[in-house]
Amino acid sequence: KHFILLFIVIINSTSIIGKSKPLPNSLPCDIRSLDIAARLRFDHDATKIASTDFGNLTHQIPAAVLNPSSVKDIVDLTKFSYNCSVPFSIAARGHAHSVRGQAMAYNGVVVNMTSLNDHNRKGSGLRISWSASLGSYADVGGEQLWIDVLNATLEHGLAPVSWTDYLYLTVGGTLSNAGISGQAFCYGPQINNVHELDVITGRGEFLTCSKHKNSELFYAVLGGLGQFGIITRARIVLDKAPKRVKWVQMFYSNFSAFSKDQEHLISTKGLDYVEGSLTGDDNHPNNWRSPFFSPADQSRIASLFTKYEVIYGMEVVKYYYDLSVDTVDEELQMLLKELNFIPGFIFMKDASFIDFLNRVRSEELSLEAKGLWDVPHPWLNLFVPKSGIMDFNAGVLVDIIHKQNKTSGPILVYPINQQKWDDRMSAVVPDEETIYAVGFLHSGGAIDWQVLDGQNKEILQFCNKAGIKVKQYLPHYETKEEWVNHFGAKWSIFNERKAKFDPKMILSPGQGIFRLG
Ligand code: FAD
Repeated sequence: KHFILLFIVIINSTSIIGKSKPLPNSLPCDIRSLDIAARLRFDHDATKIASTDFGNLTHQIPAAVLNPSSVKDIVDLTKFSYNCSVPFSIAARGHAHSVRGQAMAYNGVVVNMTSLNDHNRKGSGLRISWSASLGSYADVGGEQLWIDVLNATLEHGLAPVSWTDYLYLTVGGTLSNAGISGQAFCYGPQINNVHELDVITGRGEFLTCSKHKNSELFYAVLGGLGQFGIITRARIVLDKAPKRVKWVQMFYSNFSAFSKDQEHLISTKGLDYVEGSLTGDDNHPNNWRSPFFSPADQSRIASLFTKYEVIYGMEVVKYYYDLSVDTVDEELQMLLKELNFIPGFIFMKDASFIDFLNRVRSEELSLEAKGLWDVPHPWLNLFVPKSGIMDFNAGVLVDIIHKQNKTSGPILVYPINQQKWDDRMSAVVPDEETIYAVGFLHSGGAIDWQVLDGQNKEILQFCNKAGIKVKQYLPHYETKEEWVNHFGAKWSIFNERKAKFDPKMILSPGQGIFRLG
């Protein structure tokens, strides 16, 4: 009888041991002795959620999930690991909209940042202020979603200046990368629009940093892929918010004209947003945009594919305020009058500022309703130097993407001024004045994700062979050599900063740059 019982216990244990289901508290130190124990979860329901992300490609089960009720909980956890004889890894999990397990911690502890929001804002919450030296700014918790920052700041007639296309991302998550969208040409990425941060380092120290105070930590953390500290508060630049925008889409059949016009517009004052995309004939023109085109416009645009091989869409926006309501149309006409889009293929819309900024949300809800949002997303995001963009178009956008006809999801292409980036920060971009952000936002489902991933590899191989010195954005690499190559001249400083702020390599192991030790 005892033998049978023992056998059943062994069977049950083996089913939860191993890479997919670690035993409760498989951490090396007894974390359950801490005050935060009540907010730690070891059960499979909690750890399973923490092993998923938007990419739906990688699953790493942590030993536990912390639902912090305050910033102090995260300090206690990090200090505990740092002082433990065998430290365990810790990953801040914002909204888990990474695509390659970057917010996961195999056998470590995942900190569910958004739970700071549920606990009466004992995190840093969201506060709007003004000072003579900084103007208007918002102090926001690293766990806050950008959509909530937008809603709160708009109540004061203010808004951040630099955005991402999609707003259901956390402040800590985008500042760990860069945060880019069509405003970046003029304001730089989101990391460029931060005055100050509160950070918990890998040693468990809670530090405030800025350009003037603990500046090395400040520069390390911005674009630092979560390697140097957990952001618990960011002081974000605000400006007067427009109420409405003029939103324009134009279509091109010629990449040279398309990129020339984009580059012209980002070097001219007047517009507030410039983006672009490859509009494949299987790519609906509304792709990832709230319905912009009427059905009649859509069939006109579709007719272009009978005439031209490849179509590129340029999207620009001009904000306007009560004072400029009478002049905005004229100003816009002046800005667009020299452009070389296909005659007649310009479409204009007047929208509220929030509807424009939150444009991807309705597409998310519609894809979700069709079961097409939670599918694998083997994304590839690149920064391409301007010197290589024509070859990139011919070799990648036309030969690989268009001719192979194996894509699903938007393909973004737009230029950014590199001078708007601060090289002291950890983020890396090609060393040229103008760089193109190119996003292959693939959705698996209709097409096997491995096929799309194979195409990503083909794109990188093409760039390598053609000598186009691209840098990955939201980078993902398998080997140390690739990371060293990615950071290039910045690798040694990245390494030194890691030794200083997270010497035991505890933080954000899912990025796969350093090994716990
Ligand atoms: P998570 O995925 O939770 O975390 C990402 C990384 O940051 C992890 O390593 C994590 O440990 C670390 N991290 C999280 N929170 C913190 C913190 N508080 N302190 C320190 N480290 C932390 N990016 C753009 O730039 N522009 C876009 O237009 C854009 N659009 C997107 C649209 C969609 C639909 C999706 C899914 C992603 C998009 N992204 C875009 C990418 C996005 O900015 C990054 O994936 C970002 O990391 C997501 O934020 P998150 O809160 O989900 O971070």
